[in-house]
Amino acid sequence: MRNYFVYYNDNYVKQSDATLPVLSASTQFGLNVFEGIRIYKEDSYFIFRLEDHLKRLNNSLRLIGFDIEVISNLEFLAIIKKLIILNNLKSDFSVRFTYLINEIDSWSSNKRPTFFIAPLIRKRNSADFYKTMILTKTRRISKLAMNPRVKCGANYINGRYALLEAKSKGADLPILKNKDGFISESSGACIFLVKKGVVITPTLDCDILESITRDTVIKIFLKNKYKIEERPVKEEDLNESDEIFICGSAAEITPIKLINKSDFRIGDLTKFIFNEYQLAITNKSYNDYSWTTKIEI
Ligand code: PMP
Repeated sequence: MRNYFVYYNDNYVKQSDATLPVLSASTQFGLNVFEGIRIYKEDSYFIFRLEDHLKRLNNSLRLIGFDIEVISNLEFLAIIKKLIILNNLKSDFSVRFTYLINEIDSWSSNKRPTFFIAPLIRKRNSADFYKTMILTKTRRISKLAMNPRVKCGANYINGRYALLEAKSKGADLPILKNKDGFISESSGACIFLVKKGVVITPTLDCDILESITRDTVIKIFLKNKYKIEERPVKEEDLNESDEIFICGSAAEITPIKLINKSDFRIGDLTKFIFNEYQLAITNKSYNDYSWTTKIEI
């Protein structure tokens, strides 16, 4: 990974110089909140659903007990412009932006968090790309214990357990049930099924992250008059489905083959949503939703 310039604690420094004390509450206890967002390069740069990512970051801050104002849209854009120039970024990339504690403190820390924005090179998915999945024994964390709506580092340890289990069983990714036995989501993406022409996805109260891409996918299907059901999803639905795909800012639209299914081809509705999503993220369609923010350098 290249040693890019990152925005860290109000300065632009090389990533290798953006360090944390070993005993900070973030290094020890995974105390942070963060977002990941993609920036697509066409004739200009396009950020997808920036306001929604900042809104979710703001909610995460509050839910985890930090009472500070999230960075503004305009400040964020100014930093991204500077990072593009400093790092000479000329193709698609993504950024992680995170509030963390860079002082030695306990997990109950209420010190003012430090903020960083760091670029990562990420190309958009190609149309023939797919991944395999398996249902895991590892269950999704419950809102009664660790609110899955908070996008915090510590919640990802649940994803780690599930991912390690899936990989040990030969699949790329896990599908987790929630504590009640309904399908919840994957370790870093939401799940959709297509069954007899109907698009189905678990409801938000099935212990999923309130995914921005999930919302985009639902809006695109609705706009194009497809039947969509948000409902509790059972294991039988999964096994009886004609198509499966996952979605997320990083995963974009990724077609899924269940590891135990022998016959597989990428389905028509998966192809449809893959193509429409590509148009949406680069502002070639769905302009009335104002999903993209254009950056001119
Ligand atoms: N679920 C989990 C657990 C995730 O980590 C992510 C990635 N942020 C998603 C779903 C997808 O969310 P989004 O579409 O907002 O990236």
